[in-house]
Amino acid sequence: MKALVKKYAEPGIWMDEVPVPEYGPNDVLIKIHKTSICGTDIHIYNWDEWAQKTIPVPMVVGHEYVGTVEAYGDNVHDVQIGELVSGEGHLVCGQCRHCRAGRGHLCPNTKGVGVNRPGCFAEYLVIPVTNIWHCDPKIPKDVLSIFDPLGNAVHTALSFDLLGEDVLITGAGPIGIMAAAIAKHAGARNVVITDLNPYRLELAKKVGVTRVVDVSKEKLSDVISDLGMVGGFDVGLEMSGSPKAFNDMIDAMYTGGKIALLGILPSNAAIDWTKVIFKGITIRGIYGRMMFETWYKMQAMIQSGLDVTPVITHKFKIDDYKEGFEIMKSGNSGKVILDWI
Ligand code: NAD
Ligand code: ZN
Repeated sequence: MKALVKKYAEPGIWMDEVPVPEYGPNDVLIKIHKTSICGTDIHIYNWDEWAQKTIPVPMVVGHEYVGTVEAYGDNVHDVQIGELVSGEGHLVCGQCRHCRAGRGHLCPNTKGVGVNRPGCFAEYLVIPVTNIWHCDPKIPKDVLSIFDPLGNAVHTALSFDLLGEDVLITGAGPIGIMAAAIAKHAGARNVVITDLNPYRLELAKKVGVTRVVDVSKEKLSDVISDLGMVGGFDVGLEMSGSPKAFNDMIDAMYTGGKIALLGILPSNAAIDWTKVIFKGITIRGIYGRMMFETWYKMQAMIQSGLDVTPVITHKFKIDDYKEGFEIMKSGNSGKVILDWI
């Protein structure tokens, strides 16, 4: 089959011919229809320090997809051939304390599709049936193909009560913009999103945020006064991975504020801890999606009118994958979709 392979330990990604993966008794073989490119795939493409120590070479990469069931193993009973499916990209052990207590998203033995084992940038993918998500076929396939990052946005945004609250999102990447749409949908009062990239700030306007802020030109303290807010924001969603943005956020929080951190900060990122202490701020780290509570919530929100389609800015046929990676690398895109059929 055709697949995008991290073939060599150097920058790049290569189209190759590889065998269709074999499936075991508990597995499902999925025929891939659409995939989308994640920031993680760009790290793998660029072959940065994280990728060099994490990604086995050669390996098929990619983890955001929608497809149909092509075949399944003998122990699998609850999927249908031809059914539209996506899947949780984190494979958990099922044996540890967290897995046994229904908190699989905290499993320390997690393995990632397209990161630690073969991924979905291919004509076929194999995952265990326990990772299958049964899709609502009324939801467009483009949207289903981005359920994985939408899940990151949903898991982060719904970490704290948003109804009537003033929410600050730092980083208007695809996940930050989707989180803004979710915060509005979930009843937040003001939703303010920051970035430095004009393309992304324009894109964020399309999901109905209260205000976009270019932090190279405007101060959050001025925005807080303009909007007539008392003291600052109630909830912060850090989605840039920038220490500067995280510090801006701590300054802009009201006392008792709550912050969810999704953006992956450098390990030596420093903040002024006295502000966290004297403001009584709660900080929570977020990894992946809840299995499968986040998936039910995101499906329900899409079914009840959440529109994340503005974040899908580019679509390419798989043979034009290089263009897709280039536009994603430029930063002047939202989600980029690659069509396999
Ligand atoms: P992205 O890189 O596309 O977007 C990040 C945005 O932050 C960019 O638009 C960038 O211009 C902006 N930014 C940079 N410095 C800024 C600053 N000082 N102030 C405001 N904005 C600034 O990333 P994404 O795909 O949207 O993902 C968001 C973050 O979440 C990334 O850091 C990613 O690595 C991380 N992530 C974490 C998990 C997890 O499980 N914890 C999962 C997926 C993604
Ligand atoms: Zn486990």
